[in-house]
Amino acid sequence: MASASSPHEPCRVCGDFKTWQKQKAARQKTTTVEGKSDCPADREQLGRETWTFLHTMAAYYPEQPSVAQQHDMKTFMTLFSKFYPCKDCAEHLRDRMKEHPVKVANQKELSQWMCDIHNDINKLLGKKLFDCSRVNERWRDGWKDGSCDL
Ligand code: FAD
Repeated sequence: MASASSPHEPCRVCGDFKTWQKQKAARQKTTTVEGKSDCPADREQLGRETWTFLHTMAAYYPEQPSVAQQHDMKTFMTLFSKFYPCKDCAEHLRDRMKEHPVKVANQKELSQWMCDIHNDINKLLGKKLFDCSRVNERWRDGWKDGSCDL
């Protein structure tokens, strides 16, 4: 017989009381974590969402930008690196930009530069490096296996 409650609700009559209590506690924990989505961003969340913006911006940068667009992108990244609200992160970014100035000649260059900069941070944090030859698959076209088309 179909249950009247949501399929995700722990089922009170399906098992013993202890199991039901555990399921209910686990569900409340999940709800609390999900409920945090309206709270101020921490460094990780801000980082993930900012990378989404930066890589997507690079993915849609013109193939043949005008001189003004190239100038504006340099200015944007310079100002961004001054105002990014995680101060350590902003400092790391400025250090890297001194050694590796932003490349703005076309979409491919900017996307590769962004990927290299992100990999520098990944390295600093002991994270896995990303294969930059696939940056447009990740941020513009979707993976070649079609998994993003579903
Ligand atoms: P993220 O590193 O946020 O990556 C998000 C997604 O991007 C990944 O899931 C992957 O699909 C893709 N990706 C990963 N690497 C690349 C790449 N090289 N090119 C393209 N796509 C990629 N945190 C610190 O603790 N210290 C810092 O100094 C610091 N500096 C930062 C500087 C900037 C400019 C930004 C935007 C963030 C910085 N962060 C820093 C945050 C940090 O980089 C991560 O965003 C955060 O730790 C969350 O990491 P994550 O594992 O969820 O994935």
